[in-house]
Amino acid sequence: MGEAGKSTVGIGLQYGDEGKGRVTDTLLPGYGAVGQFNGGPNRGHTVNEGNIEVKLHHLPSGIFHKNILLYTGSGCVINPVKLVAEVKEVESKGVSIDGRFFISGNVSLIRPDHLIFDEIYGRDIGSTSNGIGPAYVDRAMRAVGKEIKNIRLGDYLSNPDKFKPIIAMNLEKIIWEHDLDNPESELAKERELIRQLLDVEKVVNKFHENTLAIEKYLCKDPMMITNLVEGGMNIFFEGSQSIGLDCTTGMVPYVTSSNTLAGAAYSGGDLPPEYHHKIIGVAKAIMSRVGHGPFVSEFGVGKSEEYWAEGLGRAHTKEKELAQWNPNELIKSDDPFYIGIALRMLQGDEYGATTKKPRRMGMLDLVMLRQNCKLNGVDELYINKFDCLNLYSRTKLPGIPMVIAYELDGKQIDYMPSSMEELSRVKPVIEYLPFIKKDISEIRKYENISSEAKNAIKFIEEHVGTRIYGIGVGPKREQFIMIK
Ligand code: GDP
Ligand code: MG
Repeated sequence: MGEAGKSTVGIGLQYGDEGKGRVTDTLLPGYGAVGQFNGGPNRGHTVNEGNIEVKLHHLPSGIFHKNILLYTGSGCVINPVKLVAEVKEVESKGVSIDGRFFISGNVSLIRPDHLIFDEIYGRDIGSTSNGIGPAYVDRAMRAVGKEIKNIRLGDYLSNPDKFKPIIAMNLEKIIWEHDLDNPESELAKERELIRQLLDVEKVVNKFHENTLAIEKYLCKDPMMITNLVEGGMNIFFEGSQSIGLDCTTGMVPYVTSSNTLAGAAYSGGDLPPEYHHKIIGVAKAIMSRVGHGPFVSEFGVGKSEEYWAEGLGRAHTKEKELAQWNPNELIKSDDPFYIGIALRMLQGDEYGATTKKPRRMGMLDLVMLRQNCKLNGVDELYINKFDCLNLYSRTKLPGIPMVIAYELDGKQIDYMPSSMEELSRVKPVIEYLPFIKKDISEIRKYENISSEAKNAIKFIEEHVGTRIYGIGVGPKREQFIMIK
């Protein structure tokens, strides 16, 4: 037998939306498969080719690589209705996934009642209302007495007539428990997502049809990936969400419902760790996050979170901010809160893809980055949005701000305390680097970037202790500089 293939794991090191999708897409040549091991359609990975841009929620980030196999591993949860819609969307853009997309039979199904539960109870921690949390709860719950709670794709497809009524029963139950079909129900009046799910028969039929429609992607052999890698295929595992959102070690409770750590690839990806080769970490040069929770390097700490949370996080949208502020003036403000708003607006895409909610903005936090690289054994670091660093030269700040340490109750520390109480008392220790004034977005070679940009790269590497292998200098596929 020939030599076995190798496995690479790619993870986000901050709070999500670091541009993991585009890094995966860039690094894929040389791999035979791209696999997911955690999360569900709460991911949103942007990939583009020419003028086609897609935000992927279900499909792995390898859609543009025609010969690459796409795999959704056991660790994931899926919503068949969303998946079918997404497949249609990418196919309408000329991308075919037929014959190369496989889903483990062990993935748990996100039921319509999970969506309702998440919409009612998940908003306070900033959930995307995709039903991910409740689906993972039911996976861990397994069953209540004889009532099956964890409905997996493989189970459903092997006996659809048995499972269809269970989907209906769960939906009826949550509607009844919360009196949602009462015309006076405030919840139903207020929340469109809930209203859409009240017609039980229609909703359950659609769920059923869509689940049957994805049978062609069902991977029946749990050893498929292992066999392929054993036979010489290299696989790239792409993490969903990010380390700051890991459900065990992240900022509980403002986290996602699965393990985002690099090691999770070998529990949720259906491959033994034996084939592990290296770990790729992705960060972005100006940070952002959605949801509540401590954010040490945030611009306008406190004020920014309150602003974000107004109207359950729905009060401020991209359109409203554009109408309200002139970012070119705002960026010159003395108040960091306004600098944060200006950076969000000038970076263009720091708004939720579907919700349009603004993201909270912050400086690059090297304490977090170092800790997350260390705890995940990151071998290669990639930093996106490097082009955005030149926005700082338009502020009144003395230079590019980088958080190099934390101060907790007057003492300097170099780690993130795991107590949320302590973490919210932490103050950032900031060092300013010389501004990068020149636009970097058209440059493609490391030799051609300015000495200030090189200096920033070196500074980050030294503080984090991990080498930077590439930087993103714009959203387009080709706007990327590999550093040899
Ligand atoms: P993911 O969830 O980590 O895959 O990241 P997303 O796709 O949700 O968000 C990243 C956003 O930043 C997308 O809109 C990208 O187009 C954009 N982006 C990624 N890299 C860069 C970069 O280097 N520069 C700029 N300006 N935008 C980038
Ligand atoms: Mg995203």
